[in-house]
Amino acid sequence: MTSSAGSEHAKEWKQETWVVAAGRAVEPGAPLNVPLVPASNFILGGGRVYARDEGTPTWEALEEIVGGLEGGRAVAFSSGMAAIAAVFDQLPAGAVVVLPDDCYQGVAHLAAHGAAKGRWSVQRLPVEDTAAWLGAAKYADLLWLESPSNPLLAVADLPAICAAPRKPGAIVAVDNTFATPLNQKPLDMGATVSVQSATKFIGGHSDLLAGVATTRDERLWQALRTARELAGATPGALEAFLAVRGARTLALRLERAQHNALVLAQRLVRHPLVSVVRYPGLPSHPTYATARRVLKGFGTIISFDLKGDAAFADAVCRHVRLIRHATSLGAVESTMERRAAIPGQEHLPATLLRLSVGIEDADDLWADLDGAIRAAAAGA
Ligand SMILES: *Cc1c(COP(=O)(O)O)cnc(C)c1O
Repeated sequence: MTSSAGSEHAKEWKQETWVVAAGRAVEPGAPLNVPLVPASNFILGGGRVYARDEGTPTWEALEEIVGGLEGGRAVAFSSGMAAIAAVFDQLPAGAVVVLPDDCYQGVAHLAAHGAAKGRWSVQRLPVEDTAAWLGAAKYADLLWLESPSNPLLAVADLPAICAAPRKPGAIVAVDNTFATPLNQKPLDMGATVSVQSATKFIGGHSDLLAGVATTRDERLWQALRTARELAGATPGALEAFLAVRGARTLALRLERAQHNALVLAQRLVRHPLVSVVRYPGLPSHPTYATARRVLKGFGTIISFDLKGDAAFADAVCRHVRLIRHATSLGAVESTMERRAAIPGQEHLPATLLRLSVGIEDADDLWADLDGAIRAAAAGA
């Protein structure tokens, strides 16, 4: 991106500035904003031939923004899972994959699917068992980390794990979706690749699917580009445009939602009908000490358990009005769901509600949540 306003400023500007300024053209007369370029092919002679191979200016703007935040070179994909699948695609036959015991269900399914086909073997380790991860680094071909984890919000000691001596050629990948690159920079800690589901915080408005993988390893960057090209896992033009638009307010949204999340988590702790509150910013959280050391901010996701049964938790989800009963996370609007209701997630506490806190007013959110819990308890 020779025309970009940003590349030379990635280190000089604060990340709050970067998300606003990066990826824009600088030539006089060029559109101030990143244009939506719906193009499959380009006039020959300019270097860009076919979008699936060389990309488009809109994808590149998204890659520049996220790459600058993560501190590496980025490749944009059609979804977070497409970015993740491209990382798994790098593994040699018979590889050893190590996953957290708590992680995004799609990743666990992808790993299990490949294991069932005989492509690799999978081992699961507790997120917080740093010693076990350091041991696994010696033999694993892929250490897949997700921190904070979904949905239990355990925080891994990434600086220790990413810096550990590892098998030559091994990949240490971090799913950095929950932290966002504003709160955590896995590449600075020594990870090989950091992955974002841009569907979540980067986009931030529940209106697109996209993913981004970022690395400092030039060969891996090339290989991820090749994986995208061969699998055809390319972002849509509109999706990339919307992800860029969303990223402009990422810092603001995160700051506000994080503030709201801490307020709600602290109030939930004192709620008579709530038994457990998991939020990395609560001193009672099992990995609070690690979170304080590793994360710049504690994020916007809370998982809490209700006193009662699954039917009670489902009733709470039916009673919220401002908070929407929906899956996914990281958007301007707050969403909540009972995770154990999802096929494959039955191992989770039956009443666990995962709340993705948005940018609404904290008191309005609390009134809605507390009101829904009380109405459900009253059998309304
Ligand atoms: C949503 C999500 C993904 C998958 O991203 P998609 O864009 O839905 O493909 C991966 N990891 C985490 C932590 C997520 O929340």
